[in-house]
Amino acid sequence: MPARVIDGRALGASVRSEIRRRIATSGRPVRLDAVLVGDDRSAGIYAQNQARNCAEAGIDYHIHTLPAESGYEEIAGRILLMNTDDSIRAIMMHLPLPVGVDAERVQSLIDPQKDVEGVNPANIGNVVYGRRSLVPCTALAVIEMIESTGITLKGSKCVVVGASNIVGKPIAILLMREEATVISANKYTNDLPMLTHEADVIVAAAGVPALVTRDWVKPGAVVIDVGINRKVGADGKAFTVGDVDPRVSEVAGWMSPVPGGVGPMTVAMLLRNVAEAALR
Ligand code: NAD
Repeated sequence: MPARVIDGRALGASVRSEIRRRIATSGRPVRLDAVLVGDDRSAGIYAQNQARNCAEAGIDYHIHTLPAESGYEEIAGRILLMNTDDSIRAIMMHLPLPVGVDAERVQSLIDPQKDVEGVNPANIGNVVYGRRSLVPCTALAVIEMIESTGITLKGSKCVVVGASNIVGKPIAILLMREEATVISANKYTNDLPMLTHEADVIVAAAGVPALVTRDWVKPGAVVIDVGINRKVGADGKAFTVGDVDPRVSEVAGWMSPVPGGVGPMTVAMLLRNVAEAALR
């Protein structure tokens, strides 16, 4: 029997309608302020989609556009002004930033109470301490998707493939918070297929197309694919693949697709963080 699909679009839609209800019943205005620097095409498209998603959820979307030649000082100055503006409760930064501007340095300026992407190191630290805080959206999405399968995380074995600061590490820590036994793997991990083959849950977040293959997976395991890898087909058209080979569905118990998995759920988690920051 093929793996059951963890449908990120359906889960995301249900989270979004819950947020819409929460905002409507609060009777309070909720807004998201996003900074976009320059005219990067994909960042522009992402911002347009975000404006639509916000409108659907009842969130006012304000975009602060800065010229492409902005340096660290201009961008940092804008963030600091937004931090002190009491009408702004939720801030996010579109990437990429201009060459030479360190994104992590800018992100670390966002007030942790307004940092709805959870990218300020203070919020990543709060994840470790288990404090109520704004958690990185992709990590939140992954945990919700795993929990939607009904698996008991406490005592389960989980392997997170990929250990970046904003994706792999927060996922591993959230799984540890659930008292799972967690292995955090990276590109230097030896015998990775042997480790994943023991796992009840595999999260693939390496950015390597079809890295996780059928023989890496224990029958019945939950497999979450975070990877977003762009490829060009023989017809010249671009398409997206994940880090998990589609044939994994022949052995896994549950599997999230790409596209239509972690991506749309991450969008929903950002909107939930916006509502959280504005209404708490
Ligand atoms: P990154 O490049 O910062 O980190 C990659 C991590 O994977 C590193 O820890 C590296 O050591 C590890 N790695 C690389 N090759 C490996 C291998 N062969 N075996 C084991 N580990 C390996 O990437 P990132 O920002 O963490 O993103 C990872 C993937 O997730 C990318 O495809 C990215 O596009 C995707 N992503 C998706 C979402 C979403 O919402 N779906 C959000 C963020 C990132």
